Amino acid sequence: MCCNLSTYVEYSCSHRILQQTQYLDCNRWDCRLSKYHNHDNAEHDCKNNCAQELLEDRHLTVDWQHRPCTPCRVLAPTNGVNA
Ligand SMILES: [Zn+2]
Ligand SMILES: [Zn+2]
Ligand SMILES: [Zn+2]
Repeated sequence: MCCNLSTYVEYSCSHRILQQTQYLDCNRWDCRLSKYHNHDNAEHDCKNNCAQELLEDRHLTVDWQHRPCTPCRVLAPTNGVNA
């Protein structure tokens, strides 16, 4: 079933920063929200036989950085970095 997928980048300070949120279409004909939903317009009991709602949002970490996130670097700059 369709859902919104949020992807994150995780930093060494263990903060996760949202990268993007995208809509994931499940491509099922029996999901009311899918673009493939009942594409031949067959009569059917949509309410009972088709999924009607989005699944819970999914959160996925797709990238790991070996450095603190930007807010952490601003708040606590590493020693030796003198701009
Ligand atoms: Zn769906
Ligand atoms: Zn339907
Ligand atoms: Zn951080």
